[in-house]
Amino acid sequence: MATSEAAISRTEILEKYTSLDQRGIVIAEYVWIDSEGNTRSKTRTLEPREDGKPWDVDTLPIWNFDGSSTGQAPGDNSDVYLRPCAVYPDPFRKGNNILVLTECWNHDGTPNKYNYRHECAKLMQAHADAEPWFGLEQEYTLLDLNDRPYGWPQNGFPAPQGPYYCGVGAGKVVQRDIVESHLRACIYAGIKISGTNAEVSKSQWEFQVGPCVGISMGDDLWMARYILARVAEDFGVKVSLHPKLIPGDWNGAGLHSNFSTKEMRQEGGMKAIEAAIKKLEGRHAEHIAVYGEDNEKRLTGRHETGAIDSFTYGVANRGASIRIPREVAAKGYGYFEDRRPASNADPYRVTGILMETIYGPV
Ligand code: ADP
Ligand code: MN
Ligand code: MN
Ligand code: MN
Ligand code: MN
Repeated sequence: MATSEAAISRTEILEKYTSLDQRGIVIAEYVWIDSEGNTRSKTRTLEPREDGKPWDVDTLPIWNFDGSSTGQAPGDNSDVYLRPCAVYPDPFRKGNNILVLTECWNHDGTPNKYNYRHECAKLMQAHADAEPWFGLEQEYTLLDLNDRPYGWPQNGFPAPQGPYYCGVGAGKVVQRDIVESHLRACIYAGIKISGTNAEVSKSQWEFQVGPCVGISMGDDLWMARYILARVAEDFGVKVSLHPKLIPGDWNGAGLHSNFSTKEMRQEGGMKAIEAAIKKLEGRHAEHIAVYGEDNEKRLTGRHETGAIDSFTYGVANRGASIRIPREVAAKGYGYFEDRRPASNADPYRVTGILMETIYGPV
């Protein structure tokens, strides 16, 4: 120890307090989605329930926040309500503490402008018989506090793409401890995370969530995004969901959306897959409109993307709008992958419009 200040680390100091008895109090972290597609959260304490049961979406109190500070309400009428919609064990506080995903509602009983969950949930409920499954692949980039991707030189560029995808070894991947911590925290929280991998551009990573049924896809993905931001905060690292962070010969970031219904997963399901793709084709521009900001910078027809103004599909084709995996084509049933959504797309909007396009509005 060089100095007496370093005799006890910050981690140890924190541990003195986090190990104190909570006297049965549950700490609930209420999480919501703001006007720019970032998550926000604030903390409240809850007495144990009288019947001794855990808090759930039906019993958790509705709360509120100052919407004028987040671009979600005017200053002269700023209260926005937080209605609990999904509860997760809190991997940061552990114990009985919880993360509470909420929907934003206005004081007059209408959903907030940036509440895309409400419509999505209605569609999922109306078409529940179709048994929709989603699997989303969240690509992202890790940045230092000066917004520089890790492993990129101060001036210029790293060596060209090639070694980074699923890379192993120093100089090829960076910040693996964040990816691993995020994976473990999501598993603890009960999120259906299905995997992770290093991506094509340096400092770019991906995690997959799914298959998830209906509305739980958007819920789990948003909570996984929240957890990623919190884990990266611990490491002093920023997370970017920008779909084309660096112009030029560098892969952008997407939110590939894998989709199937009961019909598609059964013998002969390819017919239902093809019928669905035909329907998507007719609504291409409407889909692009809700598939994320700055997506035109990414969907160039290069770097494993289809061009933004054309709708294409093909077996094992990573340059198409829609890819039918090779294995699915061989078996004749399964699922398809919509490769168009940008990394910053709202999963409620993506999964919602897929349902609406294939099964009709509600
Ligand atoms: P890629 O080869 O495109 O990188 P990944 O392995 O990263 O694919 O992601 C595939 C995703 O598809 C996973 O999230 C997985 O859960 C999901 N998935 C697998 N089967 C189905 C299915 N039948 N319906 C919907 N999603 C599925
Ligand atoms: Mn205050
Ligand atoms: Mn993938
Ligand atoms: Mn990927
Ligand atoms: Mn993919």
